[in-house]
Amino acid sequence: MSGVRIREVGPRDGFQNEPEVIPTDRKVELIDGLARTGLARLEATSFVRADVIPQLADAPEVLAAIDVPPEVSVSVLIPNERGLDAALQALERPPVNARRERAFDEVNVFLSASETHNRKNVNRAIAESLAGVEAVLGRAREAGLRCEGVISTSFGCPYEGHVPVERVLSIAAALRDAGAQEVGFGDTTGMANPRQVSEFFARAQEDLGGGVELTAHFHNTRGQGLANALAALDAGIESFESSFGELGGCPVPPGATGNIATEDLVSMLHEMDVQTGIDLDALIACARRVQEVLGRPLGSHTLVAGPVGWEHAGR
Ligand code: ZN
Repeated sequence: MSGVRIREVGPRDGFQNEPEVIPTDRKVELIDGLARTGLARLEATSFVRADVIPQLADAPEVLAAIDVPPEVSVSVLIPNERGLDAALQALERPPVNARRERAFDEVNVFLSASETHNRKNVNRAIAESLAGVEAVLGRAREAGLRCEGVISTSFGCPYEGHVPVERVLSIAAALRDAGAQEVGFGDTTGMANPRQVSEFFARAQEDLGGGVELTAHFHNTRGQGLANALAALDAGIESFESSFGELGGCPVPPGATGNIATEDLVSMLHEMDVQTGIDLDALIACARRVQEVLGRPLGSHTLVAGPVGWEHAGR
């Protein structure tokens, strides 16, 4: 079987949800390490208001300092037009790695498929969010940036419960029509199950056609993250988002945690002979390093157990 593309989201989705602010030079060290594991895509930071998410207030400094090889696509999360203004300003600073044309290549925009979750997250109705997102996508495309739209609570909402597939896919179509080349479907609080995922992606591919890349973003909140990833893979999805060390989650509702760990996803895929281009040992070293930086044990299984077969290799 051919390969899959993985976007590492830990430096944004993970660092944003840590109670403490990670020093900028530690973030840069971790991102530079991740960028050398063979990952194709990396979400480095977010241009959110510093008073709302102080953990990522150093976005321009991080982007100015990271040394990412040009073959790794760097993305930033953009919450609104003001965030895009700041991001475009940061784009004017030349990247450290002279082989790179720009400090970042992609923007990610987001909204929720649930009215209640969207309101709790960004204090707007879905329609208002969509209008804002469309404006950001238009301007980002004009600036020559690749665009991804992520739909939170695509598989269920902690406040509303069931989220109709039709609603999720109509938001996805709107994102595509506004210029998103990729749409990510987030299981923000870990409510998806493999059968649902399988049916969802079969229908999504049928409805949205081949013009837009479809990406699966699962959380391991209830331990079903990898099962859901496998269901998406079997349904034909080849693009995933995950977080080293199983960092991250969603600040709403409180306590909801855990993207699937990139090293767990990579380990499973490699054992199935699905290629990712990622060096698992190098990735585990990055997860071990972030565990040291944070000073607490992380939830990733592969971080604890090591890669399959390590005991025979004598490591
Ligand atoms: Zn996530």
